[in-house]
Amino acid sequence: MIFRSLKKQIEARALGAPSFLFPARVGAGTTVAPSLPRRCFCGKGGIAQTSFILFALLIAPIAISAQQHFDGAAAYEYARQFAAIGPRWPTGPGHIKAEEFLRAHFQRAHDQLEEDTFTADTPIGPVPLCNFIVRFPGSKPGVIVLGTHYETNYPLRNINFVGANDGASTTGLLMTIADRLRAEAAGLPGKKLSGYSVWLVFFDGEEAIQQWSASDSTYGSRHLAAKWGRDGTLNQIKAFMLADMIGDKDLDIQKESQSTPWLISIVADAANKFGYQRYFFQQEMPVEDDHLPFVQRGVPSIDVIDLDYGPNNSYHHTAQDTMDKISAHSLTIDGDVFMESIRLIDQR
Ligand SMILES: [Zn+2]
Repeated sequence: MIFRSLKKQIEARALGAPSFLFPARVGAGTTVAPSLPRRCFCGKGGIAQTSFILFALLIAPIAISAQQHFDGAAAYEYARQFAAIGPRWPTGPGHIKAEEFLRAHFQRAHDQLEEDTFTADTPIGPVPLCNFIVRFPGSKPGVIVLGTHYETNYPLRNINFVGANDGASTTGLLMTIADRLRAEAAGLPGKKLSGYSVWLVFFDGEEAIQQWSASDSTYGSRHLAAKWGRDGTLNQIKAFMLADMIGDKDLDIQKESQSTPWLISIVADAANKFGYQRYFFQQEMPVEDDHLPFVQRGVPSIDVIDLDYGPNNSYHHTAQDTMDKISAHSLTIDGDVFMESIRLIDQR
């Protein structure tokens, strides 16, 4: 991604959400589930039983809501494994390993996986790239697409840039969303989701090969949006939601100006439901990213992105973009909001 404009200064900092909403954090990426009330009915009534009922009435709703939170720790763990592959720049050995990682994961899960391979025309010549598409069919006609990019920057190939936030965090997020959707579908008739189909797209070639421009960036999304435009697939897409760089411990998601207003409202409503307002849309700015090829073709789209990464954005596109800068907590927030957004789009 790239800023189109730097006119808005990033200032407001996110504060911690109420602690009861989350499992306690113990070090980077480690979570401890809150203990649930023990279901012990061994007492014989009287004060003990009354106390238990009172306790259950007070505590159970909190415990149940905590249980329903997205598993940000699982997303963090997927991201950790993915970032551990190392730099994943196109044509490099880590890129092949990243492809193998995604292929093996979704094949093992028996998901509907498509590999959309193509050759991009880049400043260094033809470069083979591959988008991964994982489909979860729904019972309602129409598709919600969630996207991320998974590769790292070719120009940064000589530093140890692993893109923990930029690429890996949202790859882990989408892998965990896949786990949720798979589990949900498994218990439903025909193993179909109750609403729209949900497709997860892991884009390749988001980053510039040399220097960011309209023709040197977003290779995977431009390729796929054009292909889906030609074959009519775009007409089925009700919403496209892009996740980029939202593993940041200090989560501060901007309102991206070219995103579709009703989708921004849906994401804001989803965030409000969990009391996450402070993490969302405190600033507005235009960003060039993988959503634009879809926006330009009239697909309702949103870029859910946090451009402010580290002091003065000093972790962005540097060797400092490592796992200690991202958190399971932020991925819980992201996952809660994405899952709730899917639900709200289904109801729309
Ligand atoms: Zn980047």
